[in-house]
Amino acid sequence: MLHLFEPGEVNVTEIRDSATEKAGIDVKVLRFDEAHPVISGNKLYKLNYFLETAVSNGVRRLVTFGGAYSNHLVATAFAGSQLQFETVGIVRGEKPRFLSPTLLACESYGMKLTYVSRSEYAERTKARMPVFDPVFPEQLVIPEGGYHPLGAEGAAGMMDHINLLRPTHICVAIGTATTFAGILRKAGDATVIGVPVLKNLTDTHNRLFYLDGGKKMGKNIIWNEYHFGGYAKRNEELIEFMNRIYMQHHLPSDFVYTAKMLYAVFEKIKQGFFTKGSRIVCVHTGGLQGNQSLPPGSLVF
Ligand SMILES: *Cc1c(COP(=O)(O)O)cnc(C)c1O
Repeated sequence: MLHLFEPGEVNVTEIRDSATEKAGIDVKVLRFDEAHPVISGNKLYKLNYFLETAVSNGVRRLVTFGGAYSNHLVATAFAGSQLQFETVGIVRGEKPRFLSPTLLACESYGMKLTYVSRSEYAERTKARMPVFDPVFPEQLVIPEGGYHPLGAEGAAGMMDHINLLRPTHICVAIGTATTFAGILRKAGDATVIGVPVLKNLTDTHNRLFYLDGGKKMGKNIIWNEYHFGGYAKRNEELIEFMNRIYMQHHLPSDFVYTAKMLYAVFEKIKQGFFTKGSRIVCVHTGGLQGNQSLPPGSLVF
């Protein structure tokens, strides 16, 4: 791994309440959100091998894609600024009158932003593109969200920290499923549970096949019923849950990814899903900056 971002140690928040007590289980949250104040924990890992490829091919520029609140976009901007690559972000939709905090952060890291219509964006991100094209040797194209075998390989680096906790179950939010695939590669006997945050993400297993090249996969489970209506959708119940776990367990979460995953885990604990003695590790992938798109005062943190 490039040692640009690698945290020496990742903190753990223990979840202990009457439900975990009753179930006789051990629940820990591994705080990759704390790896960097702006950049989501998993995004840095996913970028690792793209960056290595860029360095070894002597490219000058990184090009990638994302929406106005994309954690991936800002992580790429940051990584580019650290390694002295030019960065170009292709942003979905018209240029907003006021830039989101995410886009402002991208610009502050020197990223050049280009806005394209939703239909053009969909067209451009549809194809599985070659990352490095010898015809355009000056640039490396990173697919949206790092969705590529190189992204999964980088995400597998998170397991060095996760495995130290000897989990029987590992829980993680799914966007593109790149992080999930990376974790699954190195999960050994642990069961990996993925919680999609998109409504229509029903092709997770095809995604895993693409990301892992059809290698033998570990045990995995998808909980498809916790997307709260779709990507970045939310309701009162989710926001209340976020405030409650912050007050009870000092655990901040983001409403797009980690809150939905944690909500699912808390529900499943109440339903008796986990057998006595289970050691559950929930992977906090970060994303807290996305909460800035909520109405002020929604959250107590
Ligand atoms: C991007 C992101 C995810 C999803 O990761 P994928 O590899 O796309 O599945 C999860 N959590 C947070 C906080 C993210 O920013």
